[in-house]
Formats: sequence, C-alpha cells, structure tokens
Amino acid sequence: MSTIQNCAHPATAGFQRLVARQQPPEDREDDADAWRGFMGSMDDAAIKRADGGSVWNLAAYGFLADAEAPDTVNPILWRQARLNRAHGLFQVTERIFQVRGFDLANITFIETDHGVMAFDALMVPETAAAALALYRKHRGDRPLHTVIYSHSHVDHFGGVTGLVSQDDVDAGRVQIIAPAGFMQSAVAENVMAGVAMARRAQFQFGNTLPIGPAAQVDSGLGKNIPRGRPGLLAPTREITQKHECMVIDGLEVEFQLTPETEAPAEMHLFIPSENALNLAENATHTLHNLCPLRGAKVRDSLAWSKYLNEALHRYGPRTEVILAQHHWPTWGRERAVRFLAEQRDMYRFLHDQTVRLMNHGCKPAEIAERLQWPDGLAERWHARGYYGTVSHNVKAIYQHYLSWYDAHPANLNKLPPVEGARKYVAYMGGAQALLGKAQADFERGEFRWVAEVMAHLVYAEPANQPARELAAAALEQLGFQAESATWRNAYLLGAQEYRVGPPPASGQAGAAMLAALPNELLFDLLAMRVVAGRAKDLRFDIGWHFQESHEHWVCSLSNGALSSIRLEIAPVADLTVTTSRATLDALLAHQLQPAQALANGRLMLDGQVQLLPLFFGLLDRFSGNFAVVDAAEMPQ
Ligand SMILES: [Zn+2]
Repeated sequence: MSTIQNCAHPATAGFQRLVARQQPPEDREDDADAWRGFMGSMDDAAIKRADGGSVWNLAAYGFLADAEAPDTVNPILWRQARLNRAHGLFQVTERIFQVRGFDLANITFIETDHGVMAFDALMVPETAAAALALYRKHRGDRPLHTVIYSHSHVDHFGGVTGLVSQDDVDAGRVQIIAPAGFMQSAVAENVMAGVAMARRAQFQFGNTLPIGPAAQVDSGLGKNIPRGRPGLLAPTREITQKHECMVIDGLEVEFQLTPETEAPAEMHLFIPSENALNLAENATHTLHNLCPLRGAKVRDSLAWSKYLNEALHRYGPRTEVILAQHHWPTWGRERAVRFLAEQRDMYRFLHDQTVRLMNHGCKPAEIAERLQWPDGLAERWHARGYYGTVSHNVKAIYQHYLSWYDAHPANLNKLPPVEGARKYVAYMGGAQALLGKAQADFERGEFRWVAEVMAHLVYAEPANQPARELAAAALEQLGFQAESATWRNAYLLGAQEYRVGPPPASGQAGAAMLAALPNELLFDLLAMRVVAGRAKDLRFDIGWHFQESHEHWVCSLSNGALSSIRLEIAPVADLTVTTSRATLDALLAHQLQPAQALANGRLMLDGQVQLLPLFFGLLDRFSGNFAVVDAAEMPQ
C-alpha cells in the first residue's frame, strides 16, 4: 500500500491549477490597502514573555514570501495568508492608527485632543504591550485614557492588562467602555463547554500544528493565536442605547450596538471627524462563521445582515474609510460602501436561501452542497471563505431553525459511531476489502469519500496502521485543497492525530477565569462537573455564606443533579459553609486544601462536616486532550 505524506497528490495539484484559473481577477487593491500607511514594525513581530519564552513570532511564515502557491496550499488561501503576514503600525486617518499582525486581531489607536484611546486590547498582555510600545515609538508618549472593547471575544480583550492596570482604572485614570452585556458574554460564552471548545479550537486555528507550506499557513482571520494567558478588566461604562454619542477628550464618537451578531455583545464605532467606520468583527475580509468549528451557540445571520444594513444607511454617506478589528481597511467612499453592502448581502443571502431550501425539505448536507455564491460575490476576494465557509454556515442556519435533526427517522436513533463503524466494515467485506477499495478511490482523488470510510474503519479497528495512514493521507489532501484556513487546519490536525495520536494532557483544563465568574455561573459550572455515577442516590443541601458579598446560596443534590439558588436569608442545610469566593476559587483550583483553609480561618463549617470532602469528591476533572479522530474514552 502506498500513500504520500506532506506532498500533493496529482489530483490535488490539478485541483489547485483549476482554482488558480477560476479565481477572481487580481486587482492588487488588497495588497495596497494592507500596506497603506505603514510606519514601522519589529523584526518578524517577535514578542517574548518576561522569562524569554516566545509569545508571537512570524519568522516561521517566511515561506509565504513566494507569490506562487505551492501545490500543498489552495491558491486563494495562499493569497490571504500572504496578506495576513503584514505586521506593524499603520496610519489609517489623521487620528486613527492600527497595529496589525502582532496577534490574531488588530488593536486600533485613536488620538484624542490630549491622549489616546485603544479600541480593543488583543488576546494576551505581551502582544498588547508590544503594540502600545510600537505606537508610542512613532507617535510619542500620549496618555492612554480609554480602552474600548468592541466585543466579548477573548482576542479583543484578553491583553488589556498589557495596556493599563486595575489601579489605573480604580484611580480614574482610565475608563473602559464595552457594549451592553459584555461581562456576562465574555465570561459565559466559553465557560460551560470551555474544555471541549479549547480542544476543538486547536482544529480551527491549527496552533498545535507545525507551520509550513504542508502544514499551518494561516487561520483566515489572522496568522495564528499567541501563546500566553489572557486577562480581563471589567468595563466602567456600558453602551446600552442602540446608538450612543459621546465626546471623549474632545473627540466625538458614535457607537452602534449590534447584539447577537458575530458575538452576543458587539458594537460598531463611527468617528465623524475622520469619516471612519469601524465594524468590529462584523465585516472583515472573509466570510465569517455562523458557527465556528470550535463550537459555539449558533449566530443569528439575519440580525448580522440587518445591523450591517443599518450601518450602511446610517454611516455610509459619511464614510471615507471602513476598518475592522481583523485585516486591513478599505479606503474611498465608493469602495468602502460597496464592501459593506456586499458583506451585508453575504449573510442575507446565506440566511434566506438556506431557509428557502429548508422549506423545500432539503437536508443540511444537500443545501451545503448546492448553495454557492452568486457571481457578484464569488468574484470578490473579501467574500471568500478563508475563515467561515458557505458549507458549514448553511448547516449552522439549519441548526438555528430546525436543530441537528434532519427529520429522517433513520437518523433519529442511529447506532453510536463505533458500533455503527463495525457494521459498516463487516458489510463492506471486512477491513482488507475495504482498504483495497479505498486505496483505489484515493488514487482517483476521491478524498472526501476515502476520509469518510476510513473514519469508520479506524473506529472499528483503531490499531489498523494501514487504515490510519490512508485516513491521514485522505484528510491531508483535503487540507491541501481547502480554501478555508479553518478547514485546512482541521484536516491537517486530524491527519496528524491519525498518525501520532492526540497531544499530551496539559494539566487540569477549564480552570481559567474562575475569579471572574459570578456565583450563579460558578455553581452551574460545578453542577456540570458532578459525576452522576458517584452521586448515585446521595441527597444533601449545602448552604454557602460568602462573607464579602453577604450572599447566601444553597446547593441541593438529588438524583445526580445539583441545583443552586441564591436566597435572601441563610438556608436550613445539612452543612453550612462560611467563606469567601476567593477561598472557594482557591479550593477548586487545588491551590489550597480544605484542612489548611479550616486551620487558618478562611473556611468555617457548621453541620455535617464530612459533606464538604464528599461534595468535592463528586466533581469530575478534564484532561483537555480527548480523542477526536479516535473514539473518545467513555468516562464513568
Ligand atoms: Zn476576533
């Protein structure tokens, strides 16, 4: 049996040539925009932690200097990956500057009469601090008095402590402005399913893959995600009106709230004196995700389109430049307005055509296969699917309205993957016969089908090495062909894990941002960790009294379910725990043992004291490296 590793199959090479022939005409406008206003940068945008470890470095992407795509990369994605290489400080208008290519997202600096504001804060403090230093190197030491979070995704706020400190905020030297519902969304969106999302995000961004022409080349929105630890400072002011005007240190700004679009809490920013419209992450140089591959609640494509339409009508006539928090700006009223109208049309078209076909009874996979951009969008570089795709966005819209169930009763209660896979393999004449047929299909370039049947075979026979290698080879060719960076990353990491297995566990997953969680969310998170098999027929009530907030809560366990509620007065309970949230957080993070906390008075117990260790003992722990292309181990 022969497969090829890290090389394009002849069918893939032929596919790339076809893509290159059919791609939109190259007008060089994106290249000009991506470099317009360049003021300077650091070599390779290399950013290090205090201990010398690398946080961000674009040196490994040097292979993208070649204008011609290799056979292992879709030419349309290659072009985007080259554009996303631009890094440094760029002047957008007289008062607006952006640092791009220092992180996944952009940071926008807006100069006011006596200082500067930051629109967004990148993902980790190190990259944000480097961006601010670069800005100051070129523009002087203007005081940073305002940070604005455009939306509740971590690549836009996680670096805030690299810009300002909690002390700056407490002393009133810095205000932090965010869209309504920011805090709730920022901490809630990725908490409950956070462990699963973090693992799945590796497949979206390819951040655990090697970088290279046969490996990770981009993530569509930007190059990659930085290594480091995000932080969060709470906003001091929320924007709550549909449109809200403010004057900040002499500069007039207008916010447009756009809830339930690319993020649950998001807003646009218009600056009249600059004729500049910042669309946050609702209109960038890609088709975005209605549901990212990492998993999320499905986004509302209809609302998304409507808010872009509102921005077009409200600000379009006054706009000379559109910018966003990923990618490069678009200058000139005519070009900017066209860009915005096309982005609006993309989400509207996807929504309406998917729903129309749904109402004809088409299934998700059928709509995804059938629906394609009209020519007017297909020939526009910014409408291509570098990040989201028409295919998986269609499925998200179906899910939004009709759920996972396609209404075919045979799909209502299918055998689970491994049992089903064993039957498929047996019906196909056993592993050897299946491998022979699949190898022949691989030679013919039928990679989608080979990937599907080999997934069955590896589920049925995980130790079958020729099966694993053919499965990997098929995914690899699909990755090489993908226009979407996120599909490429998913396919290539899938191939890697067929070959070498999942990554090692990285300690206990899911403990981040504990302190930022409100009590209700914390108790919900604990309830999700109760191992039903351990709880069995246990029943008890634990009352909690948090000293600093004077809040009373009671957690009731019955039937393996832990329900929590806040009460006005101390509840009657089997055990009452008096403590602080900080102590509870430390106990849950295993930074403090209950015996220590009891001994130094940080924890006081009243009632059946043995219930506390019993309760902690019910809680599950997650390795964060679960199998994806192999069957996941079924926990207790
Ligand atoms: Zn982002």
